[in-house]
Amino acid sequence: MELNFPEIENKILRFWQENGVFNKLREKNKDGKPWSFLDGPITANNPMGVHHAWGRTYKDLFQRFFAMKGRDQRYQNGFDCQGLWVEVEVEKELGFKSKKDIEVYGVDRFVEKCKERVNKYSAIQTQQSIRLGQWMDWDNSYYTMSDENNYAIWGFLKKCYEKGYLYKGRDSVPWCPRCGTAISQHEILTEEYKEIIHKAIYFKLPISDKEFQGVNFLVWTTTPWTIPANVALAVNPELEYGIFSNGKDKFVLLKDLAEKVVGKEFVLEKKLLGKELKGLKYEGPFDNLPRTVKAEEENEKTFHTVVLDKDLVTALEGTGIIHIAPGAGEEDFKVGKEENLAVIDVIDEAAVYLDGMDDLSGKSAKKNPELIFDYLSSYKAGQFLFKIEDYTHRYPTCWRCKTELVWRVVDEWYISMDKLRKPLMEATKEINWIPDFGKERELDWLKNMHDWLISKKRYWGLVLPIFECKCGNFEVIGSKEELKERAVSGWDEFEGKSPHKPWADKVKIKCSKCGEVVSRIPDVGNPWLDAGIVPFSTMKYDSDKKYWAKWFPVELVCESFPGQFKNWFYSIIVMSVVLEKKPPVKNIFGYASVRDEKGEEMHKSKGNAVWFDEAVEKIGADPMRWMYAKQNPADNLKFGYINAEEVKRRLLTLYNTFVFFTTYVKKEEFPNDLKLSPANTLDKWIISKFNNLVKKVEESFENFNPATGVNAIEEFFITDLSLWYVRRSRARFHEMGEDRDQAIKTFYYILLNLVKIMGPVMPFFAEEIYQVLKTPDMPESVHLTDWPEVDKKKIDNDLEGSMGKLRNLVNLVLAERTLLGIKVRQPLSQLKVKSNELSKEKELLEILKEEANVREIVFDDKLAKDIELNVELTDELKKEGERREFIRTVRSLRKELGLVSGSIVQGITSTANVVFNEEELIKDIGSKYFEQVASEAEIVGDVKKAYKFDGKEYHVGIKK
Ligand SMILES: [Zn+2]
Ligand SMILES: [Zn+2]
Repeated sequence: MELNFPEIENKILRFWQENGVFNKLREKNKDGKPWSFLDGPITANNPMGVHHAWGRTYKDLFQRFFAMKGRDQRYQNGFDCQGLWVEVEVEKELGFKSKKDIEVYGVDRFVEKCKERVNKYSAIQTQQSIRLGQWMDWDNSYYTMSDENNYAIWGFLKKCYEKGYLYKGRDSVPWCPRCGTAISQHEILTEEYKEIIHKAIYFKLPISDKEFQGVNFLVWTTTPWTIPANVALAVNPELEYGIFSNGKDKFVLLKDLAEKVVGKEFVLEKKLLGKELKGLKYEGPFDNLPRTVKAEEENEKTFHTVVLDKDLVTALEGTGIIHIAPGAGEEDFKVGKEENLAVIDVIDEAAVYLDGMDDLSGKSAKKNPELIFDYLSSYKAGQFLFKIEDYTHRYPTCWRCKTELVWRVVDEWYISMDKLRKPLMEATKEINWIPDFGKERELDWLKNMHDWLISKKRYWGLVLPIFECKCGNFEVIGSKEELKERAVSGWDEFEGKSPHKPWADKVKIKCSKCGEVVSRIPDVGNPWLDAGIVPFSTMKYDSDKKYWAKWFPVELVCESFPGQFKNWFYSIIVMSVVLEKKPPVKNIFGYASVRDEKGEEMHKSKGNAVWFDEAVEKIGADPMRWMYAKQNPADNLKFGYINAEEVKRRLLTLYNTFVFFTTYVKKEEFPNDLKLSPANTLDKWIISKFNNLVKKVEESFENFNPATGVNAIEEFFITDLSLWYVRRSRARFHEMGEDRDQAIKTFYYILLNLVKIMGPVMPFFAEEIYQVLKTPDMPESVHLTDWPEVDKKKIDNDLEGSMGKLRNLVNLVLAERTLLGIKVRQPLSQLKVKSNELSKEKELLEILKEEANVREIVFDDKLAKDIELNVELTDELKKEGERREFIRTVRSLRKELGLVSGSIVQGITSTANVVFNEEELIKDIGSKYFEQVASEAEIVGDVKKAYKFDGKEYHVGIKK
């Protein structure tokens, strides 16, 4: 049966649209108990990829499920709008290379371009989400660039300021030279580390202390561009070093690494412990540069000395002597602070060497490593250079533009975590994390994270409401109203504009300490502030506390976890703990990443990224959703068309079951009442199975463990419904009477309720089937029905157990037949069964007889194995086997002709040398006539087939 998912889905979308079904659902539940879901905003910067559809499937699934349980919901979707991701795309669009291009173009025009981009892609993503079947109040989506969102963050920052959490710090920060901004620790994910080959250098620094005359420190670094920023060396006090000589050169380095680095020609002259090197002074290659001279003047005592650090210096690689450049490295900066070292800045915001650095000035530090090598090899006749090597390591890159990062010491704004760390960890523990390792990951992050760097030297983002005065005072404005009140100039230019650069920068206030007129700092905010505030800004925290209290804390957030422990999960917890001293959410559901079919990361540049639009029209939304919902959220999902085909194949099984029903049961035969009182064992069994299924699925959805429920549904419709119930019930639909009525009623009840519980996962497919099954007194859409009640009285676990055992026996028999080379169609006289646990209920035994295709079943406790088949074939059994094989062949030919099973065919010709009752055969097959012929040549029909049975060849032809 052909099943065109995209076609069905587009038809159902129109049906929902034309009948306002979503609004009817909201109306239906409007007085229900609230169930609060908070959407993590999607970055409105590109069309959706298939990975977005994974999360959206979960979001929709849970909302639809709780709607069936009568819960009132907000259905608010969110768009993340501000930040570097949008800026970089707009820069690309406009062909910009650096921040200067933006300034020349005009910050106001640039910011408008960013807004335009957000509006364009949020509209596209809305359409795509609708296509996925996601039900949201699309006209009421929130945008993090909105005034209310930005001003709500002002309120939060003001509170941080009042509590003393907010400060300006001078620190060494990861920095993107292209974007010209600091990258916060939160934004450097493991996936932003790339395997990169750099030139590592071994260089010599002559020791200036007299007793070490002629001896050099041998130092190793993988970032040669930082050498001009060197102010000290670090050694491990506890490790053993040595002076090594080849008669000409003398080096100090770690004893155990010496042979590897300098070779055997250098022999050990003297052993030294690291701590004996402390305080030694050395000469550097850049000592004449004005910056170096200034640094020496600043702190002569610590300048170019050896310091001790047993954590930083290991015996694993290099020389055991580390070059310390506090101006160009994070660890270095820390050591510098502890040891009171001077900081030498060497690069600007584009990683270009600063003025006053000889030939280096004006050149990119990262792009030209040979500058340093040339300098070192030419200067003082190569006195400083020892050797250069390729070195492969994992190095961090910018999450947005993939440029390699550098470290700079700059002034940035931070939220201090000292006082927050503990309450944040407490709040984290109160949240239910799914999968449960999420809690540990979040706690681990909270334990180790630095203060939160919230400023960015960029353009499109939250304008940080920080006003810093020359007198040292700084103040934070907490709302638009407060700004208006404090404004001494510029308000008129700002009024009516969104709180963005450059308009917000016009407003000046008076310093409350010294009365000076003060400007806002030029920085914008970290975008995770924008997303972190949404448990407040989107729920009227500032304007309607009653409404907010109704929806806060939220029941569920649901996002892909890589990254979010440091980002969204983190920021909503921080903001909620600061504002309300409690967690913003009860349950956090996380899921892994979508990979390609081979399990590799998808990348546009790699060519293996799959766009949503293409995938949804190729696969269909429902099979995609089914595939997503079945997945264990803790594992990465391998997405691909081959996997999708497999999913569709299984769904087709269900569809064929449904088609079977509608083929044999006319609409007017659909039962009016669904009060079930089944007499047939098979009916009792499937009804029991189904009620257990409903229970299991309900629990799995309620506990945010959808994969368990969805896999149980699939198992049910394939293994129980299709392969057992329907296959075994086929004949019951052909014969009018009470048994047929019972079968219809049971089957109808199962299908109707099955599509209800599948509705949250496959909303289109469920609707398609429901529309056929529904009778006039039922709701117009499956999504307006209630979640089916579990009928506990209909659950018969004993019967399910017996049937399970029976099916195991059947499998044993089938395996035994395969082993013996006896076809299933060949009846056998007897089956001996060891277990007397098998229910001896007559109906079950009948089923076993038929499935095993045996004439009788005998219980025998002394049997050596579980079953034993009597394989002796009498003539009668042989003939019956032949007959069944014949019938099966005719049936498969009928299928080839596209005729549904049971429909009458014109006639059959056959060479089968059969003596079986022709009349009976005609009836069994549903044929108008049956003719036996003498040779293959006489076979006629629309399709023909030759087959072998028991070594003999047969020919059959069948006429439509
Ligand atoms: Zn960048
Ligand atoms: Zn002041």
